[in-house]
Amino acid sequence: LVRFQDLLHTRVERLHEAFRRAIDAAGYRGQYRGVFPVKVNQLREVVEEVIEAGQPFGYGLECGSKAELVATLPYLSSPDMLLVCNGYKDGDMIRLMLAGQRLGRSVVPVIERREEFDLLRSLRPDDAPAAAFGVRVRLSTNGAGLWAESGGEGSKFGLSLAELLALVEEAEAAREAVQFRLLHFHLGSQLASVHNVRQAAYEGARVYAWLRKRGMPVEFLDVGGGLGVTYEAGNADARGGIDYTLGQYASAIVEAVGEVCDEEGVPHPTILSESGRAVAAYHSVLVVEAIDRREKGLPPSGAFQAAPHPLFGTFDRLEAQIESATALDAFPDEIEVLRGEVTSLFRAARLSVEQKALAEHRLWALTRATHRRALALGSPVAGQLDKQIADHYLCDFSVFRSMVDHWAIGQRFPIAPIHRLDEEPTCRGTLVDLTCDSDGKVADFISPTGSKHALELHALRAGEPYYLGVFLMGAYQDIMGDMHNLFGRVTEAHVYVDDEEESGFYIEKVIDGQSIEEILGLVQYFPNDLERRMDKIVRGEVRSGRLRPREGVQLLDLYRGAFRYYTYLDNEQEIR
Ligand code: PLP
Repeated sequence: LVRFQDLLHTRVERLHEAFRRAIDAAGYRGQYRGVFPVKVNQLREVVEEVIEAGQPFGYGLECGSKAELVATLPYLSSPDMLLVCNGYKDGDMIRLMLAGQRLGRSVVPVIERREEFDLLRSLRPDDAPAAAFGVRVRLSTNGAGLWAESGGEGSKFGLSLAELLALVEEAEAAREAVQFRLLHFHLGSQLASVHNVRQAAYEGARVYAWLRKRGMPVEFLDVGGGLGVTYEAGNADARGGIDYTLGQYASAIVEAVGEVCDEEGVPHPTILSESGRAVAAYHSVLVVEAIDRREKGLPPSGAFQAAPHPLFGTFDRLEAQIESATALDAFPDEIEVLRGEVTSLFRAARLSVEQKALAEHRLWALTRATHRRALALGSPVAGQLDKQIADHYLCDFSVFRSMVDHWAIGQRFPIAPIHRLDEEPTCRGTLVDLTCDSDGKVADFISPTGSKHALELHALRAGEPYYLGVFLMGAYQDIMGDMHNLFGRVTEAHVYVDDEEESGFYIEKVIDGQSIEEILGLVQYFPNDLERRMDKIVRGEVRSGRLRPREGVQLLDLYRGAFRYYTYLDNEQEIR
């Protein structure tokens, strides 16, 4: 994984710049503040980079769990820096937030459930002032897009309007309403349409205006995350695509909030957003090596002779028909029927192994011929056959570890070879990963006209590495990935631009990926115990005379050394 840390800086700057422009253009009388939701990428180096980039803008942080709170609290270097605390909270978490407030930091617990408000009130020491807090409301506006369920009335987060009214009454009765500082909503990530962004801002601003008129001194209107990334080559209609730019997103919010506040005669609040994906996605690229290419339907070796069979005559006739056809729709089905017939004949012992091998090769050749002819005729049959005829490129990575959203929700990422770019790619392939799982593959790619089932790739050359880049990986992917088949965290390099360097860049840091010992420890296997078991097996073999003692020692050493291996294929390099 290569992290281009400068891109984090640029994204933070562009986000603030976009809101500054929108505020100027709309004559908005409030400000904009951002917080970085660390759930997007909790890696310390990423968070520190974002904090540094955000310093001139008063950029803060957002946390959504107890562990994230523990990690972020000490980064509040000044009383102005905001820490917005979302997520479900228990007493321990609230006590920590109160400690942060006691230390003069701007920690804002955002109430997700009524019970959290009671906890907040009861855990405050008697002599401490009432704690500042925010409330997340459930809007009726839906997000639209792959994450639409995070918003809307059915969302699992936030208070309904009825619950908000009850909380306001409770706060007023307890004379704690003056601490109601922030109103929050979040529609979901990667919002597809700016229309929904604007509608949510109208709806949220109405609630804000009501709170202000009711006497709550709410300063911040927090519009959550959702600012999308153009994964889909700017194709807004594609699944996961977006129909707006950063500037349009900022304007939609600023204009809507300003309009509602003017109508209602309430002050313009500070608009707060929790954009994570749009800040972090761009900065990292996963580099995967394609180590093998499996072509479908290779011919059997010339040493095997297949006896004649009437089927082969059928194949010849079909081939001639395909070459001269002007309509191709029927051929894919016809080939499938023949494929079924081959299997049936083989099961019934009416086709030998050699004949079946040749028949399989001929069937693939027919499918390829249909595809070729379809391309020449501009027929949609070409698209239907793309996936079927694509070669499998075996790649040294795990989809579950490094591209989890692709597996889980069908999110597509831009993928392309990163070398041999001056050479026409003559093959078409899908990517299969190292896991023993048929879901561990990528067979759905971004294309300017929609999706495609195969990627244009080069033929592999013996002894020459072939690398692919998977782009826009910086948000969620490396942090949410799991350990399927015990593939661990990948090795990563942090790169900075430096014009004074001859190459134009330098590598600031390399963080080794997890070793086998580390990943095994997470599932409770430890070297001492495993080595003891292995030792017992070796001794048994030596005692029985099946193994020479010297060889036994060598085998044990080999096994012990394996704890230091990298979990991915790496022929040369061991960690450390
Ligand atoms: N805020 C909250 C409450 C979230 O749940 C999320 C993630 O879905 C975000 C902010 C970040 O959203 P995004 O990465 O779309 O900006």
